[in-house]
Amino acid sequence: MNKIIVAIDGYSSCGKSTIAKELAKYAGYIYVDTGAMYRAIGLYTLRNGLTDEASIIQALPQIQVGFIQAGGAQHVTLNGEDVESQIRTLEVGNRASQVSQIKEVRAFLVAQQQAMGKDKGIVMDGRDIGTVVFPKAELKLFLTASPEVRAQRRFDELVEKGEKPDYNAVLADVNDRDYRDTHRAESPLRQAEDAIVVDNSHMTREEQMQVIYDYFNRFK
Ligand code: C5P
Repeated sequence: MNKIIVAIDGYSSCGKSTIAKELAKYAGYIYVDTGAMYRAIGLYTLRNGLTDEASIIQALPQIQVGFIQAGGAQHVTLNGEDVESQIRTLEVGNRASQVSQIKEVRAFLVAQQQAMGKDKGIVMDGRDIGTVVFPKAELKLFLTASPEVRAQRRFDELVEKGEKPDYNAVLADVNDRDYRDTHRAESPLRQAEDAIVVDNSHMTREEQMQVIYDYFNRFK
């Protein structure tokens, strides 16, 4: 079977990373979580007190984002430091969403993402993978679920991490992020014309993975 590129896009908290990770494992492919790369840059700007666009752009040459394998999972690194647990907070997620609106930040990360896919055999998830990073990807999936279902999932994740979130605040955050992701000038989240839409609001993880494996296996 020839290796392909699988592009997975969709709204925040609709399970993109879980699905992408499972599909990559099933296929024996590399998995790349591009949201983690935007989050790493968001974390850098928070740590260094960078808020204006010009200083963020100026800092880009000093920022190295990478991935390492740690305890069987993929962790993102920021200038060599494993920052996986630091990037998974609401604060960093919001900052990531803000820095991702800057054209130069996107160009900086898109170039790295395209280099990672040059040998194919990759599952990449994000917001612009099927439209900008790999417009020629063989398989494009666009995941969606209702905002309420996604807010509940995010709420459960935060509780599991020991945080005490407020459901309405989490829902408001999901809606804000959707708005920013779909209305920004640079590479807004949109479905590629040739993407397959998977609405997982009412699917179990197993049902959803079966649907996705079936699409993938068409390339066998
Ligand atoms: O997917 P995740 O929630 O980790 O992404 C964090 C933020 O990074 C998103 O809200 C989105 O604004 C941004 N992002 C992006 N393009 C990508 C991946 C993520 O703009 N390819």
